[in-house]
Amino acid sequence: MRKALVVALALAVTVGQAIAAEDAKTVIGNVSKAMGVEGLNSIHYYGVAENGNLGQNNNANQPWPMAAANDYVRVIDFTQPASRATWMTYAIPVTGGVAALTPGQQNITPQTTAWAQQLEIWITPWGFLKAAAANNASVRSETVGGKRYQVVKFDAPVKSPGGQPYKMVGYINSQNLVEKVQTWVENPIFGDMLVEAEYTNYRDGADGLKFPAQIIQKRGGWPTFTAYILGAHANPANLQQLLTPPAGERAGGGPPGEGAQRAAGPTSEKLADGVYRINGAYNSLAVEFADYILLFEPGPQNETRALAVIAEAKRVIPNKPIRYGVISHHHFDHTSGLPAVVAEGITIVTPEVNRDFLMKALSAPRTLAPDSMSKSGKKPVIEGFKGDKRVFQDATRTFEVHVIKGLPHADGIVIGYLPKEKILVYADMFNLPPPNSPVPNPPVTGTIVFLENLQRLNLDVDRILSIHSLNPDRLTSVADIKASLGR
Ligand SMILES: [Zn+2]
Repeated sequence: MRKALVVALALAVTVGQAIAAEDAKTVIGNVSKAMGVEGLNSIHYYGVAENGNLGQNNNANQPWPMAAANDYVRVIDFTQPASRATWMTYAIPVTGGVAALTPGQQNITPQTTAWAQQLEIWITPWGFLKAAAANNASVRSETVGGKRYQVVKFDAPVKSPGGQPYKMVGYINSQNLVEKVQTWVENPIFGDMLVEAEYTNYRDGADGLKFPAQIIQKRGGWPTFTAYILGAHANPANLQQLLTPPAGERAGGGPPGEGAQRAAGPTSEKLADGVYRINGAYNSLAVEFADYILLFEPGPQNETRALAVIAEAKRVIPNKPIRYGVISHHHFDHTSGLPAVVAEGITIVTPEVNRDFLMKALSAPRTLAPDSMSKSGKKPVIEGFKGDKRVFQDATRTFEVHVIKGLPHADGIVIGYLPKEKILVYADMFNLPPPNSPVPNPPVTGTIVFLENLQRLNLDVDRILSIHSLNPDRLTSVADIKASLGR
C-alpha cells in the first residue's frame, strides 16, 4: 500500500517537472529560428513610447505617471553587450509649470553592471533567447490564464549584492514567440521587485526577424515603459554610429530620480531647544520630547542616508529612543531609506492613504540585496492616521502634522509644525528660487497651494525648512514665499 502511494507520488512529480536541458536547447533553438534570432547580433527598432516614473505616483495606490517618449529609437548590440535608446519628452515638471521638450536617453555599456539597467538588454525577446541559450536553461509546460506556455528559466551570470544569481523566466506561446519575460531586481521599497515585460502583436521585419508591435514593461506592478514599435531590423550596418552618443553628451545612463548624495555624513543645526535640522541634500528634522525623539522625514534617499540621519539625531539628542518617523509623502526619493527606519524600531507615521502600500511593499522579501531591515528581522510598524491632523504632545512639546489639501503632487503629503517655536517643515510643494528671481508666469501651483493651506490652518510661522535644500541654502519665511509670487 505504502509502496504504491510512493510510486503514484513519484509519477505526479515527474509530470510537472522540468524537462531535461537537452529539451530546453531544442525549444530555445526552435523559438530562435521562428523569431529570426539565429545570426542576430544586433537590432535596431523605433516607435512611440512612454516612460513611467517609478515611485512618483500622485497617489500611493495608483499607477506611475507616464511621460511621452516620442521618436523612440533603440539599438542593441547583444555581443558587447551594449544598448542605446533615445527619445523626446514633452511634459510638465512634476511640481507643475510649463511643459518643455527635452531629449532623453538610456545608455548601457559593457561597464554597466547594475542589473536594474543591464536587464534591459536581456528582457527583450531576442536578448532573452540569446541569454537562455548561453546559460543552461530549463523548460517546462505551464498553463496560465487558460493558455499553454513553454516556460524557459535560467539564472543570469550576474549576481546580486546579496550573492544571488538574478533569475530570468520567459513564456513562449504556441506560435513559438516570446510573449512575456520576468526577472527580479533589488529595490529599497519593494525588496525583490518583479520586472515583467509583455510582448504582443508580433509582426514580420526583414530577414525573418519577428518583433512585437506592443511592449509593456512593469516594475512594482505598474507600467514603467510602454511602446508601440513601428519597425525593426536586424544587424544594422551603422551599428557603432547608432550606439555612440553625440560628442558632448554624457554617456552612462543610470535611472533618474536618485537625488544628489553628499559624500560626508550629515551635520546638524540647532533651530530651537531640542529641535535640530539634520542637513543634507534632503534635510530631516529631529524633535525632542520628554521620553523620545521624533524625526520628520526619517528615511530620504537611501539606506545610507537614513542611517546617518538616525545616528545624528541620537548624537544631538542623546539617551532617548527615536519613536516616530513622520514621512512628508510616499515618493521613493523621500522613503527609500525606510528599511533602516524599520530596523531602528521607529514607527512610521503617514496618512492612512499610504499605509497599505508601504506595509505591503516593505514586507516583501529582500533576498537579492539584504538590508538593515531584513537583517534585523524587524517588521514594519506603520501608523496610518485618519483625518487631516496628527498631533504629538507631551508636557514639554507639541508637534503638529497637517495633511495638505489641493496639491496635485501627492495625496497624503504632510507638513510638520511646531506652534511654540513657529517652525514649519515641508517637502516638494515648491522649490523656492534664489531671492529676487523673476516672478514665474504661470505661477508655481504648489506655492499658491502652500499659502492657501497656511491660511486654512491659520498657522503662525516664523521659519520654514524645505526638505530639499534650497539654492542658496537657507530657511525661508512666509514673506519670502509671497515675494516669489510677486505678492
Ligand atoms: Zn515628491
